[in-house]
Amino acid sequence: MKPLEILRSKYTGCMVGAAIGDALGKQNEGLSRKDILSSGYVTDYGAALPGCPGEKLRAGQYTDDTEQMIVLTRSIIDCGGFNAGDFAMWIGKWGADARNDPARSSLVGPASSAAIARLNSGISWEESGSDIPSCGSAMRAAPIGLFYKDLDDVESNAALSSVPTHKSKGAIAGAVAVAIGVRCALLGMDCLEIIKTTCARASNHDSELGKKIEHSFNKKDSAPGDVFAELGTSYSVYETVPCAFFCFSRHSGEPKKAIIEAVNSGGDTDSIACITGALCGALHGIGSFPNKWVKGLENIETIEALAGTIFEIRQ
Ligand SMILES: [Mg+2]
Repeated sequence: MKPLEILRSKYTGCMVGAAIGDALGKQNEGLSRKDILSSGYVTDYGAALPGCPGEKLRAGQYTDDTEQMIVLTRSIIDCGGFNAGDFAMWIGKWGADARNDPARSSLVGPASSAAIARLNSGISWEESGSDIPSCGSAMRAAPIGLFYKDLDDVESNAALSSVPTHKSKGAIAGAVAVAIGVRCALLGMDCLEIIKTTCARASNHDSELGKKIEHSFNKKDSAPGDVFAELGTSYSVYETVPCAFFCFSRHSGEPKKAIIEAVNSGGDTDSIACITGALCGALHGIGSFPNKWVKGLENIETIEALAGTIFEIRQ
């Protein structure tokens, strides 16, 4: 492939990888690592077990993580860059729709739900965000890393993109980490360089998260079960984001293995696998994922087209 074709494939790989991870991970959302291991290691699309938040979704359907990433991408394309007011308006509309849909209402976490209610009651985006440090703004942040080429621009816009729903320093640092990780992967940095740059930029907002991501990299050769138990796998940004960077670092050359590791981590598996998929796709391109995962993904044409549009705008 020519260099520009490779780069385009990294753009589409990032967004499609995120959605693949989300669609695979939703099967285990909310389950403990122990329950996952006893109910069966997930290696392909399927329906979520009864009681999981995504139990009404079909095989290959993704959750709120990818839906919010798509909302963010459309807003960036419409505005020619990140515009907090425009994004806040669209995320408010998306949230109202999702909360009124019986198949999707249980997917939206408490921080996003509270922020969406505030946005839709007329509170400004500067004030609407929740103080809960959950991963809702990190899991959707990849398109910021696709759109902005300069790391300072990636960092500032990723931080801003968190604020309408998640204004804690941890959540802001999580969004920065994911967007910076994506941009570094597009630039072709190796895994160690990606981690170093990501930790430095995340630490500008919350050194605790930066240190934990660095620690997750240092644990990449340890037994995954032990690492997930130590890091934690809840919806907290201090757990999901380091877990995703652990899965990415452990299998940085093998996207399929990285995503399967994340899908079976435990807890917030859809978000951990979504972030892992975005990083892997940005580093290796869409061709690095099994064809059946790409073909079996809900709305694959839409997601590829959105990533392709961002790529074209930026060339
Ligand atoms: Mg989700």
